[in-house]
Amino acid sequence: MSRVVIVGAGPTGLWLGSELALAGVDVTLIEQRTERNPAARAFTNHPRTLELWASRGIVDRFLEAGHTVPHSHFGLLDDRLDFHDLDTRFPHVLILEQPRIEEILEEYALGLGVDIRFGHAFTGLTQRPDSVVVSVSGPGGEYELEGDYLVGCDGSRSPVRAAAGIGASGTESTGVSWIAEAVLDDPPEVNYYSAHSPAGNLLIVDVGNGRHRIGGFDARPGDQDDSAVEFTLAEMAEKATAVAGTDFGLRETFWRSRDISATRLADTYRAGRVLLAGDSAHRIFPAGGRGLNTGMHDAHNLGWKLAATMNGWAPDDLLDSYHEERHPVGAAVMRFTRAQMPLMTQFTPQIAALREVLSEMIARVPELNRILSENTSGLDVVYPPKAPDAHPLTGRRAPDLTFGDGTSLLGLVSTPARYLLLDLASHPLDVDEAAPVVVHSGTAEGDRPDWRNVTAALIRPDGHVAWATEETGEARQAAAEAALKTIRR
Ligand SMILES: Cc1cc2nc3c(=O)[nH]c(=O)nc-3n(C[C@H](O)[C@H](O)[C@H](O)COP(=O)(O)OP(=O)(O)OC[C@H]3O[C@@H](n4cnc5c(N)ncnc54)[C@H](O)[C@@H]3O)c2cc1C
Repeated sequence: MSRVVIVGAGPTGLWLGSELALAGVDVTLIEQRTERNPAARAFTNHPRTLELWASRGIVDRFLEAGHTVPHSHFGLLDDRLDFHDLDTRFPHVLILEQPRIEEILEEYALGLGVDIRFGHAFTGLTQRPDSVVVSVSGPGGEYELEGDYLVGCDGSRSPVRAAAGIGASGTESTGVSWIAEAVLDDPPEVNYYSAHSPAGNLLIVDVGNGRHRIGGFDARPGDQDDSAVEFTLAEMAEKATAVAGTDFGLRETFWRSRDISATRLADTYRAGRVLLAGDSAHRIFPAGGRGLNTGMHDAHNLGWKLAATMNGWAPDDLLDSYHEERHPVGAAVMRFTRAQMPLMTQFTPQIAALREVLSEMIARVPELNRILSENTSGLDVVYPPKAPDAHPLTGRRAPDLTFGDGTSLLGLVSTPARYLLLDLASHPLDVDEAAPVVVHSGTAEGDRPDWRNVTAALIRPDGHVAWATEETGEARQAAAEAALKTIRR
């Protein structure tokens, strides 16, 4: 037995399974559903997620299926976040619905050999010193799976989190969101429409194929989860009209759902051989499209570390760094999205005034737009280095540097199985190009002040900077050798 078991074939589980398979790890993924959830809710895919897909060579599959908009929002304010100046190959949001995202991810995972078992439900776990035994209920009855590690990618109710005894805490619900996929006979002229009034708010997004997402919030305290309660087309039309003065010709819906606005963050992302990623680790208020994106980023951080552990070259503390790095990111996303809750779920004159003031500031203060955009897009994540004298780039996401030979960083960081050593000086480094490192020599094009004097850098498989130096000559050679020693056992 040498295997990772994943529970949940949502976006997080599918991406994690693919990362592990790409690094040569045997993966079994169990999913209780027998068919995809047509009401899976996300549609906003942020620049950092597009970069991750690009680094594995599959971003075009997503881009071709959806459409892009060069902006996002903070708290559904009227003045939107302008993504034009973001330092990325993808300065826009991709509008593509979650069922289609899952379809593409599933096809990719199956192509890499991930063993996906639909109709198989996780029912329990037992941790042993060297393995974890997973109880499964499948179409043929109950059975057990043994794995080296178990990852719960099983959504916000997470049976895996409960079985592992991991607690979660957060805020109670203060309102109920409603959302549907609909046909509108008289849709808004813009493909991303939002409105706010004392009666509530309304968001309408063109998702292609003649369909629109339409939704909003009802201010209603309480944690009562009435997502299963049916709500009618007439109710939806009434809510839309109360806010916007029109129901935009709302004619037909393909699915409708409601959700509460409670938030939760798991106390830890790892308990022994059990790890959590995605909504099982964090239930995020849906402001600006962060849940699916953050789950993908969790999986991208965990995938290569788990693969390195399974493949035998990881330093002892590498797997623990998953919680150390991603738990603070989960907490930060919670904070950022919670800050938007009053703006999106309260409809008093005071909040209306706050919305107006903040909206004007976003439009008038470019620095504010930049900070909020970098956060929302997922591009500003830094994993703080442990060494106090680390180069300032350490832990930051490496930008998509381009080189004279036509390559670019996103193409070079193409696998979760190895690091990339960038040799940026004219005199080549003398290093052993053995697993888990590949060397690329060349000078980066363009002028990036942060990178101007960097002579070598080591990029992690997830695209973050592990080490960088501005040394030259023998000092550079010695520093590179020392850095390479730290990344493997
Ligand atoms: C209204 C709304 C809009 C949203 N819009 C966006 C957006 O635009 N962008 C964005 O980034 N996020 C958005 N989100 C959040 C996004 O939908 C979730 O964050 C995302 O689905 C999380 O993915 P996941 O794979 O972690 O979990 P899930 O998608 O919940 O997948 C978990 C999987 O685990 C399976 N499972 C559960 N229990 C078991 C078991 N016992 N055995 C086997 N399998 C099991 C489930 O069947 C499911 O398939 C939105 C959320 C809401 C409510």
